[in-house]
Amino acid sequence: PLENTAKSLPTILELIDGFRASKALFVACKLKVFDHLKDKGSLNAVDVANEVGASLCGMERLLDACAALGLLEKTPQGYSNTDSANTYLTSDGKYSLHGYIIHSNEHLWPLFTNLEFAVKEGTRQNHRAFGKKTEDLFKDYYHSQEGKQRFMAAMHSIAHLTARDVATAFDLSQFKSACDLGGCTGALAHELVQIYPNLKITVFDLPEVIANTSYFQPSGQCTAPVTFISGDFFKDNLPEVDLYILSRVLHDWPDEKNHTLLSKIAAVCKPGSALLVAEIVLDEQKTHPPRALLQSLTMTEGKQRSGSEYKQLLEKYGFMNVQIKITENLLDALLCFRKSQSL
Ligand code: SAM
Repeated sequence: PLENTAKSLPTILELIDGFRASKALFVACKLKVFDHLKDKGSLNAVDVANEVGASLCGMERLLDACAALGLLEKTPQGYSNTDSANTYLTSDGKYSLHGYIIHSNEHLWPLFTNLEFAVKEGTRQNHRAFGKKTEDLFKDYYHSQEGKQRFMAAMHSIAHLTARDVATAFDLSQFKSACDLGGCTGALAHELVQIYPNLKITVFDLPEVIANTSYFQPSGQCTAPVTFISGDFFKDNLPEVDLYILSRVLHDWPDEKNHTLLSKIAAVCKPGSALLVAEIVLDEQKTHPPRALLQSLTMTEGKQRSGSEYKQLLEKYGFMNVQIKITENLLDALLCFRKSQSL
């Protein structure tokens, strides 16, 4: 038995050290170490420290830690980016995770530092982490231009990575018009029009988000344009379309808010029209995947759900034939159809 128990020791040790590794990655990204090393061949610690304006001894340790974590290569000539650092950790790559990493450092890290209080009190810890009372989740994110830009960049980087799998989880070619409610920068919408060029798609989001979307638009793309409209999906009229999309929206809100939103969609959605939901779908025991359970610890008022819980929720609002696709990527997809009045 001790032998069996000892097998889990490396996992436990990795978990103990996990926070150091996360923070090393966050700081290297924040200091743009991977940007400085991109396309430069090998640089030594002095060059990187000078570029970044950091101490030599600090930078040397950070670069060695990044090499140990497999993010950099270290040779006698110096340090260079690995391929995955070039793809995911530089700030300007197509699949850059830089925005999400900066959001993790600036927003999630302070919240997780107060996890003990979050668990004891059962609430999000904005007041302790940021010295401010918790408001509506998005009012918190959007309180400053910098915070808003950071949150949008974080959403954009994950949406970009998952968009293809979500867009192709089901054959959506029967739909002529779609509206991505809470569609943020339009990352999923742009992927959808590439795959379904005849689809007219509108991104619906809060005015302060829509005002900032231009920065995130793909350049030189020859596909149908995506339209952006601003509004509040709890209050304003929703456009009439064949396909509604809710990507990473339902998990954010308490039941009453989801009730308002799903009732509004059901009211405007014609029989035969559909709703595509993109979320992480938990297994029925609700212990997998771990990243969904860890995300839950931020203690928003919403929650993560299993496949049968999503099915139950959607059916309650008249969305039937719920199909679930586990994508093995960061987001799964569900498609369901508004039942016809006669059913
Ligand atoms: N759908 C995007 C994705 O999957 O990357 C963004 C998901 S983000 C977690 C939730 C989005 O809902 C944000 O863009 C936010 O601005 C938007 N949102 C929040 N409250 C809203 C409201 N009342 N009306 C419209 N959009 C809202």
